[in-house]
Amino acid sequence: LHNTIQDLKGNIRVFCRVRPPINNELDDKELCAISFPNETSLDIRKSRESVCAISGRVGDVKQEFSFDKVFSPEASQVEIFEELAQLVQSALDGYHVCVFAYGQTGSGKTHTMQGTPNDRGMIPRTIDLIFEKIEKLKITEWSYTVTASFLEIYNENIRDLLEPNSNYDYELRYNEGRGVTVTNLKSVPIDSARMLKALMEEANNNRAVATTDFNKHSSRSHAVTKIHLEGHNNLSRASYSGSINLVDLAGSESAKTSAAERLNETKHINKSLSTLGNVMLALHNKDSHVPYRNSKLTFLLQSCLGGNSKTLMIVNIAPFEDCFGESISSLRFAAKVKEI
Ligand code: ADP
Ligand code: MG
Repeated sequence: LHNTIQDLKGNIRVFCRVRPPINNELDDKELCAISFPNETSLDIRKSRESVCAISGRVGDVKQEFSFDKVFSPEASQVEIFEELAQLVQSALDGYHVCVFAYGQTGSGKTHTMQGTPNDRGMIPRTIDLIFEKIEKLKITEWSYTVTASFLEIYNENIRDLLEPNSNYDYELRYNEGRGVTVTNLKSVPIDSARMLKALMEEANNNRAVATTDFNKHSSRSHAVTKIHLEGHNNLSRASYSGSINLVDLAGSESAKTSAAERLNETKHINKSLSTLGNVMLALHNKDSHVPYRNSKLTFLLQSCLGGNSKTLMIVNIAPFEDCFGESISSLRFAAKVKEI
């Protein structure tokens, strides 16, 4: 029943989250005029006057966007996780779940996925819920094995966040039985939420350590947390194999707003983000060819996009006027995904 209800909600869901201004950001930044007419739509205008920059007239461009759910700056991590919690159950039931945080640098992707110790994001909450559910299922005839890996993709190169200094080659391989695997990637058997959260911390630290400028680096790479769930029914011998993939995507800002020396990175990022959109579209259209292999990210997630899968995209928006252009392009990307 759970998955019937979930199926009715569709296999691709798109949420939008607008972050609040923090610290003294308001000292030197103007806010966009963003309103939330209802639970599923938001209206965004460049400024309070809402005059179209090009024509000088009011209301020239359609600025209202609808998603499966929109979250205003006051929304808590708890509220957002409520929606994701349903997908954790799906993963235990044998689905492959992908959760993406999309948006320009500074829009709140890492806050949404990782959060802070006092305001935990989707990844630590997912980990807790997985083990909470597994404990309960133990009382029935189900037992689960959990394995996890942490990696990042930077300029189309894969790095193992649990072995940051290794010189291994991390190549993607497709195998009929096992789907796509990463050669040499460390995959750790996990027996508690505490252990998995400790690994998550280790991966986060490793991500930061290897780079001179963490913010710049983290905004140019995709960080992927992969949790694999294998369920066995001790009576019927049935088994399920599912996964949850939590992806903190690289910043979606366009080439024109990023510096010249960053152009190569931007090219790779744009390629993987647009490939992600194209893969979802091809799956929706049931195309005979799905361009998974056009980017490392989509190739990596091949078995988790399409087929027995559920995808949640959270598009993050910074509320400032000088982010307006990027916000609109993020919203357009997300709206396209939503139409699928
Ligand atoms: P990104 O990962 O997209 O570059 P961050 O998650 O680092 O963006 O967010 C930018 C800043 O805004 C960080 O200091 C973060 O803590 C803060 N922030 C983002 N979203 C929220 C929120 N919902 N509530 C409070 N602070 C937030
Ligand atoms: Mg970030």
